[in-house]
Amino acid sequence: MLWAIFSDVHANGPALEAVLAAIEKEKPDRLLCLGDLVGYGPHPSEVLERIRELDCPVIGGNHDLAAVDLLDASCFNPYARAAVEWTAEQLSQEEHDYLRELPLVRDDGPIAAVHGTRDAPEEFLYLQTTEHAADLLDDQPRFLGVFGHTHVPLSFLQRNGEVTVTFSTQVDLTNVDRALVNVGSVGQPRDEDSRAAFVLFDEDQKRLDIRRVTYDVDSVAADITAAGLPQLLADRLRFGV
Ligand code: ZN
Repeated sequence: MLWAIFSDVHANGPALEAVLAAIEKEKPDRLLCLGDLVGYGPHPSEVLERIRELDCPVIGGNHDLAAVDLLDASCFNPYARAAVEWTAEQLSQEEHDYLRELPLVRDDGPIAAVHGTRDAPEEFLYLQTTEHAADLLDDQPRFLGVFGHTHVPLSFLQRNGEVTVTFSTQVDLTNVDRALVNVGSVGQPRDEDSRAAFVLFDEDQKRLDIRRVTYDVDSVAADITAAGLPQLLADRLRFGV
């Protein structure tokens, strides 16, 4: 069974199209989307329509919830908050209702999915330490935990009670007890690589591939500017920050 997992599309239509084209070539058995479909980017309705067409499991992210008033955006930085307000105005009532219904966690076969962390899915914590990852791995209900939220792809690996972190793009999971993997971001990468990210998980080979694909960053930056969204949201895409 081959899984393709992606997250944090952030209303970036061209990045999503590039990722879906790359995924299609791999002919995965299953697709999984880890949330933050909207926010920051200029194409919320286009992205929602495309993801819904895929008919795959989707979980909600903090920007999805903030756009439909299920999360208080006052803790967001001013640029993110401006984008939340802009996004909320673009959504139809039907799109609004769809985002409100998204679940925050999902277990599926060997995979436990969440946008932030499983210890508090509704708080959207940033997983930044190996100690936190070790606690999460101890309680993880499935072999592979997948998440997004920080927009930085990496893998925490648990072997005989020891947890290590790797930024490798190809990870052998054959001698691993459990793994917890950030699949990176489709629409706003933050690891100084502007290319869109997604993950392939080969369940039989126990192998993980973090893939990157280029897309037309300039066209998205131009659309951000034209939409009247903060210019910083356009500029950051060029640098992957
Ligand atoms: Zn995000």
